[in-house]
Amino acid sequence: MAGRLRKCMMLCCTKNPVKEEMAKDTFEEAIAGLQKLLSDKVELEGVAAAKVRQLTAELEGDAAVKHSDPDERIRAGFHHFKKAKYERNPELYRELAKGQSPKFLVFACSDSRVCPSHILNFQPGEAFVVRNIANMVPPFDKTKYSGMGAAIEYAVVHLKVENILVIGHSCCGGIKGLMSIPDDGTTQSDFIEEWVAICKHAKSKVKTECKDLDVTEQCTQLEKEAVNVSLANLLTYPYVNEGVVKKTLSLKGAHYDFVKGSFESWNLES
Ligand SMILES: [Zn+2]
Repeated sequence: MAGRLRKCMMLCCTKNPVKEEMAKDTFEEAIAGLQKLLSDKVELEGVAAAKVRQLTAELEGDAAVKHSDPDERIRAGFHHFKKAKYERNPELYRELAKGQSPKFLVFACSDSRVCPSHILNFQPGEAFVVRNIANMVPPFDKTKYSGMGAAIEYAVVHLKVENILVIGHSCCGGIKGLMSIPDDGTTQSDFIEEWVAICKHAKSKVKTECKDLDVTEQCTQLEKEAVNVSLANLLTYPYVNEGVVKKTLSLKGAHYDFVKGSFESWNLES
């Protein structure tokens, strides 16, 4: 047993040569081989087993990204999730089947680079997430913004979240769009410009207060100022306002800069 374990340790610890050798085969064969190793060597425990699992997960992740066929990409992505997450934490998913009680309601941009679960490591059940163009929260309006209103009402009244976090981000296309709307208000899109105009007052503020900055820097300021407009708009929802007054709910703003790799957050100024 000691000999076999030592052999396994060697296999697991020489990560790069193993990976290079495996590159000759298909990812699926490599993954299947490692999974067989884990199931065959039932005595494999501790560091060695963890290494094998880590290597398997990395290979599965690589395999998921490698597929260009969309159906295959979806299949491989779910396979990776199921093996790397779902099957390794059955208690969590059993518990989640009973219901959810997330502590966070999160607003984030729909931008493919800024998934909040990815950058803040939210686990299933931790965050109720709303994503839209430029992570904006419109003011309370039953006819114009019922979709957003429903999400806020459900999260605050029924799920009783304790924190609302609005995350802006670097290089936001929605914010650039807002910045480039002509002053005469003419629009060229069906929905986009009217949507981002939710934060038009933030744009006016930035253009006045930051007129000496170049356009890129003004956009960065607007990405943050628009978050503050959204925080203020949240207070127009009666249940949000009540929660803030009673201190059962806190409102937080944030800005994720994926160029610098930084995350700045602040609380609503009352
Ligand atoms: Zn964005």
